[in-house]
Amino acid sequence: MLPLIKTYIPPRDILMPKLEEVLYSGYIAQGDVVENFERKFEEFIGSGHTLSLNSGTAALHIALILAGVKEGDEVISTAMTAEPTNVAIKMVGAKVRWADVDYETGNISPKAIKNAINSKTKAIIVVDYAGTSVDVKNIQEISKKYSIPVIEDAAHALGTTYNGKKSGNHFPFTVFSFQAIKHLTTVDGGALQIQDKELYEKAKLIRWFGLDKKLSRLDNDIQFQGYKYHMNNVNAAIGLVQLENIQNILQKYITIGKYLDVELNGIPGVETVIHYPNTESSYWLYTLKVDRREDFIKMMTDNGFMASEIHKRNDWHTYLNDYPSEMPNLDKFYSKLVHIPCGWWVTEEDCDKMVELIKQGW
Ligand SMILES: *Cc1c(COP(=O)(O)O)cnc(C)c1O
Repeated sequence: MLPLIKTYIPPRDILMPKLEEVLYSGYIAQGDVVENFERKFEEFIGSGHTLSLNSGTAALHIALILAGVKEGDEVISTAMTAEPTNVAIKMVGAKVRWADVDYETGNISPKAIKNAINSKTKAIIVVDYAGTSVDVKNIQEISKKYSIPVIEDAAHALGTTYNGKKSGNHFPFTVFSFQAIKHLTTVDGGALQIQDKELYEKAKLIRWFGLDKKLSRLDNDIQFQGYKYHMNNVNAAIGLVQLENIQNILQKYITIGKYLDVELNGIPGVETVIHYPNTESSYWLYTLKVDRREDFIKMMTDNGFMASEIHKRNDWHTYLNDYPSEMPNLDKFYSKLVHIPCGWWVTEEDCDKMVELIKQGW
């Protein structure tokens, strides 16, 4: 069965020498290799400061702290995402206020965000679901008008662009995940891209117990709650090797995604994602909306192609559903949502076979 997602690990002869070098260097904790990875990742993104971490969830947690979200506050978010997005909101004691999605993309709707804002709203989390860019321009305008900071969860969206600039450049905080199945994996890991230099300095303390690594333990004085969220040299060594080839890997997802967008357009019973103007997806997942989804999934899997909705809408988790809300667009989107294989492991023949099968109907 051709899978929907696959872990990319660089070839042994390229990765292993670098990994061994770090493993036997005597320094496997957070050190120069981590520093090096952060500066290289900054270059890749193009602006802001990279705080490397041991997960994307840690990045979400720190972003919420830096945004000043506290117990009893509300954060506007989307239910069309993986659980970490919304579990992180609960980690700071805040409540999740849902905003409906745009049916065309499955991403949080700017209009719905506006309607959900109230005096308790302290932050907005937006997710580039499946790699599809959020409506950057309209979300930036709302953030400015109401002075509410936006956290972009770009865990699916490494390499996604708006106006030619990558995710990581558009909002004060952008979250990346380097977990096993994401575009770039360090086995586990994450990063928070922070635009403000002062907040970046504060974030480094939060990352490590509230301690300043530049000072000795005896000269340190913890002033606020910190965590143990740093990346180590071993994960960073893998990340550095991955970064050298990432553009190549991303391009494979994008080429296939764009090809499927064209080939599947206009087939009866199928709707492709309509992207916001001036954006390009990095197609971490290929999204389709189909009629009679269960039959579609059966037809695809019977023919050797994995197909699934993958994610459970997050308002269906009791603990996350602080304010049950009517979300008619999400209802419609979710009832038709399905993902089909797209990525570096999918060949041209696989693509053409999938298109042919879908054209034949189900
Ligand atoms: C993977 C993921 C994260 C973070 O995951 P970690 O496993 O903590 O790195 C956050 N949000 C979304 C949407 C994700 O898919």
